[in-house]
This record gives sequence, C-alpha cells and structure tokens, in this order.
Amino acid sequence: MSAPKRIIYIPFDHLHRSYGALKGADSKTDLIAMVESARMTTGRKWHKERLFFLISSARHFANSLEIEGFKVEYVKAPTTIAGLQLIKDKNKGLPIICAEPSSIRQYEDLKKYEVTFVENDFFLTPRPFFKSWADEQKSYLMESFYRKQRVRLDILMEGKDPVGGAWNFDKENRLPPPKKYEGPAYLEHKRDQIDNEVAAELAHTATNTWATTREGALAQLKNFVNNHFAEFGPLEDAMTSENWALHHSLLSPYLNNGLLHPSEVIHAAMKKFKTGRIPIESAEGFIRQVIGWREYVNGMYWYLGADYRNNNQLGASRKLLPLFTDSSKTQMNCIKETIGDIEERAWVHHIPRLMLLSNLALVTGTNPQEFLDWMREVFIDATEWVMVPNVIGMGVHADGGQMMTKPYAAGGAYISRMSNYCKPCVYDPKLRVGEKACPFTTLYWDFLDRHKETFKKNHRMSQQVFGLNRLSDLPELKERAHEVLEGLERGTI
Ligand code: SF4
Repeated sequence: MSAPKRIIYIPFDHLHRSYGALKGADSKTDLIAMVESARMTTGRKWHKERLFFLISSARHFANSLEIEGFKVEYVKAPTTIAGLQLIKDKNKGLPIICAEPSSIRQYEDLKKYEVTFVENDFFLTPRPFFKSWADEQKSYLMESFYRKQRVRLDILMEGKDPVGGAWNFDKENRLPPPKKYEGPAYLEHKRDQIDNEVAAELAHTATNTWATTREGALAQLKNFVNNHFAEFGPLEDAMTSENWALHHSLLSPYLNNGLLHPSEVIHAAMKKFKTGRIPIESAEGFIRQVIGWREYVNGMYWYLGADYRNNNQLGASRKLLPLFTDSSKTQMNCIKETIGDIEERAWVHHIPRLMLLSNLALVTGTNPQEFLDWMREVFIDATEWVMVPNVIGMGVHADGGQMMTKPYAAGGAYISRMSNYCKPCVYDPKLRVGEKACPFTTLYWDFLDRHKETFKKNHRMSQQVFGLNRLSDLPELKERAHEVLEGLERGTI
C-alpha cells in the first residue's frame, strides 16, 4: 500500500464490499478501520451467540479485505470513538469516511467526531424518499408504503397490477403447524479458526446455525430459495415445538449486518419465482418482508427520531418478568419453549416475537424500555433500527398508535390455533378464570378492562372492548389476573 489518503470506517453492520463506504474503495489509498468496542461487547447482557455472530462476521470480513490487499486496522477499545482515535493517532491528518450509520446514536457520535458520511445504501429506500412518503400520510400504513415499493421497484408487477391479482395473500398464509414437519434439514455452518478464537474469547460454545462469512450467508440464501421458499408463505405464522424455524429464511442476521444486501435477496427470490415453482402466496409473503416491512421499519426509525424509543403511552411500569431471562421461571408452555429456543440460538420467528413475547409484555403492562432492551440483547438480528419501531410501535403499542392502529393483544385462542403449544400445557387456552386458566386469556381481558377508556374510541378496538360487557365473571377474572401477575413476578406461573 502507498501512503493512505483516507480512513474508511466499517461498522459491524456494514459488512459488504460493494455497498456503503467500501463501494469503489481502493486498497492502494484507503486504510480500513474497524473497532470492537467494549460498549458493544460487555456493555450489556448480550446473548453470547449474538456477540459471537457479530464479532466473528466482522473479523472474517476484515480478513477478506486484507486478502484483497487492504491494510486493516482492527482495534479493541472502550468505545468506537476511542478506537477511531487510536487509529487516527497512528495516521495523522487522514480524514475518516463512513456510510451513514444505522443507529441514531452512532450517527450523532460520529458526526460530532467529524466523520464524513456517504449515503447508507444498505437499504432499498433512501431516507429522504421515505421521509417524503411519510410526510404525505395521515396514518403511516405499512400496506400503503409496501404497494408504493412494489410499483417503484417494479417487483411482482404486471404493468400497473400486482402479479396474481392481489397485493397480498395473507388469507392463504395462516396455516397452523403441520402435524409432522418433513422439510429439509437446516444448513449447518462449519466453524473455522476465527470462529473458534471468538468463541473462546467469549467463553461460548457456538451453535452451527449462523454463518459468519459472506460465502456462508450466500449458501444460506441459496438453501432458502431452493429448499424452503415454496412452502414459506402458508406456514409463516405457524409455531411448533417440533421444529424451530419451519420454512423461515433465517436471512435477517445477514441482511442486518451487511453480509447480504436486500437487492441480492430479492434478485435470488425473483429468479426462483420466475421458474414457476414458487406459489404466489410464498413469493409475495417473502417479498413483502424484504421490500415492505424491513424498509418500512427502518424508514420509521429515522422518521420518528431519537425520542420515539422513550414512549410509554399506556403507562406500563412492571419490571421485566423473570421468565424472559430464564425459561425455568414459567409453566406457560408457549413461553417456556420460545425462551428455550432463544437461549439456544438467539432467534425465533416473527410470530413468537409478536404474539407471544410482545403480547405478554403488553398485557402484563411491562415497562416498554425494559422489554425493548431485553429484545435488543437476546436476538441475533436485533439492531436498534429494527427493534425500536417493532417493539415500541408494533409490539407493545407504547406510542399511542402512531405506527399501528391497534395493539396486538391476544388471548390463548390465537396461540392455540397457530401452534401445538397448548396441548401439553398445564393451562387451558379456553379458560379465563380459575387455576387452570391460560394466563394469556385472563390477561387479555384484564388488559382491555384496564385500558377500556383509551380503546373504546378506537374503531378497530371498540368491538373487543364492548365484549367486556358480556363477561359475567369479570370480578372473578380481575382477581385471577391479580394472582397471575403476582405469580409471573415470582416466576411460578
Ligand atoms: Fe400458552 Fe396459554 Fe397455550 Fe399454555 S394454554 S401454551 S400459556 S397459550
């Protein structure tokens, strides 16, 4: 390398050679900076599988840049800025370039440190474009944004019309779990020397679930498209103790740390769809997650700003329940299974996240920020921009309905329909009072009762609130709800 002319800083979620600040980078003149900050590794109770994935991916990426001929300064430091300062001190006078960070806090920190930004193109939607869309909306409906994306990006369109004659096929995509899962086995990722070093540093036994290289991420994409894509849609909401992922793609960690770009995922999915072997309900359901929901959530994170994460419009003040951090602290089978899966591999799909974990936080009145912090800490793909809108807006309705028109509160009936968790459970999803009553069912009604004044004005909730009038056992139910909440706090329910 001749004398470097600039420092390119690569955060751990910008790991792509062709996007962000690395686009057009030249190994002869660009020095690469990467920082493993203590705030990131030891600052919180991060799930070790998550740390392993993020750090090992970053070290593999640094290694691949070195193989390409780049000089890479990979340092450990108390904070990102302290790490950059170390690198700057060694390379006096060089400017630092970075793609706009993916979190507001890092954006502000780096701006103060006078880092020069280039556009963050790790998404399909530029931030100004999203802002102009949101500025025109009365309510920020994901569905409106998604349709606009389909047209703008010309994906699954036949002229002006959606392929298959409808914008979404949700009705087809609500099957309960199959009696017996007979899908192909999941891809396993062999561990190499870098993986082993990171695992040893973390005193962690890593699973073989998550790839930590670009090659591994591409193999995961290929595996999904060839082996799971066709059946993804109808089973995308199902939950089963028989199988931890059904036909989910398992691609979000790589999309979120940069090992895959959404355009690559869309390209592979559309290529497969065009072979005629993928039903429209699977194709549309998957495309919606990538060009709709993912882009919408990121757009909303930036649009709603830094204070949005502090919302607590329902005044929820309960401390995080012990079952969230220890699956032995509950008898609720659905929660025990889900927390057990998270403990094992730092992942469960969107429905357990929304309809079990967030639903439980919502109906128990758990403090939104405590719950948000926990969700950030335990999921492999939980970036700040993903979790803030998903938890505050969608999961626990702490924003007073800014993002979602109604809270996602549900009793045991939904969980019983969409999973096989209830049969072996000590509780009965149909019961709302008594010792065998399903805590979700009891707390669903208790939640509606506690917030009836707020929700009776909401046209999407008024019927549910009205249902309270038909409950002849409401006083008994309130008593049981009190017992359930106490039991959940003690870790005995
Ligand atoms: Fe969960 Fe209730 Fe079903 Fe038990 S009965 S698994 S607590 S929904």
